[in-house]
Amino acid sequence: MSKNLPNFESIYVTKTYLPERVEYSRYLDRIWESGIVTNNGQLVVEFEEKIQNFLQSQAMHFVANGTIALQLAIKALKLKGEIITTPYSYVATTTSILWENCSPVFVDINEDDFCINPDLIEEKITGKTTAILATHVYGIPCNVLKIEKIAKKHDLKVIYDGAHAFNVKINNTSIFNYGDIATLSFHATKIFHTIEGGALFTSDKILFQKISLQKAFGHRGDNYETIGINAKNSEFHAAIGLCNLKMIEGIIDKREHLFNFYKENLKELPLQFLKIPDEVSYNYGYFPIVFKSKKIMLKTIETLNDDNIFPRRYFYPSLNQLNYLKNSQSCPVSESVSEKVLCLPFYHDLKKEDAIRIINLIKRVFR
Ligand SMILES: *Cc1c(COP(=O)(O)O)cnc(C)c1O
Repeated sequence: MSKNLPNFESIYVTKTYLPERVEYSRYLDRIWESGIVTNNGQLVVEFEEKIQNFLQSQAMHFVANGTIALQLAIKALKLKGEIITTPYSYVATTTSILWENCSPVFVDINEDDFCINPDLIEEKITGKTTAILATHVYGIPCNVLKIEKIAKKHDLKVIYDGAHAFNVKINNTSIFNYGDIATLSFHATKIFHTIEGGALFTSDKILFQKISLQKAFGHRGDNYETIGINAKNSEFHAAIGLCNLKMIEGIIDKREHLFNFYKENLKELPLQFLKIPDEVSYNYGYFPIVFKSKKIMLKTIETLNDDNIFPRRYFYPSLNQLNYLKNSQSCPVSESVSEKVLCLPFYHDLKKEDAIRIINLIKRVFR
């Protein structure tokens, strides 16, 4: 373990950006004028419209976080039984399935893009399978066409966890236009954030209306129509989102620059990098590197930690190995990648001298 404890000079895997306070204050003025702070106020409505416009996506619900978005998606689609899912994601992908009393059935991932391997899905489908819930890992899209084909053939619903995929497009089509429902997280650690927040996208108007009800207790006035939950988000969060939306293009540009800088300077090392397919317009959300062995990955963590730099083992563990799962399922590719992957510090205002320091420290591990 490292002797160094994090301090204010530490460099983490990500850093939250905030808008100018004067900018945020203008929105606060509007909240004070209206006196409305939550329950689908004017800023929430404006935020939903602006995001749909910006992403050129189907209709969106702004909700409290990305996890409740997944839970609502499972609930709204009335999923039961087994849900085919990926072991290589954040834990919320799996726990939302368990939380809704369904069973996750893990299908291993591709070695090159870390997304669910569509060629292994069909052999896991049983009479109890109701859906596929897959993650666009690090914002790289799943093979949405193959998955759609399998889902049609077996009459399964598809949910995409797009928590990492803000502004990602395939052949100029928003990634959030795929799947029966796609979800997004606006958490402070994500590329675009509202501090806490999340979203659901769907083109199905009936489903969209149902989620409107379910996210707000299941009633409209005195009309109690269905079981709901409180998944709403507030005017204050929407205001942060409206401010941040004005900055996001500049932020993505800077991240693209850093992505290429890291890659150019690390490319001689025996590391696996994220590959961005030609048809994908990427958001430069993460900079993962996969080492040849766990040993050298751990050595790299130690070396960076000694210099107050804290990369993250993301994703680790492979979710099929969570100790509270009832049955053991094996996913060798995901288990192997999880043991050897690190996400490097990656944010728009990471100083060039710090990026160079990180690069040199990693190079030193290999010497
Ligand atoms: C962050 C994340 C979530 C959860 O989103 P929250 O807004 O933090 O609840 C779900 N899935 C993935 C893949 C994530 O990275």
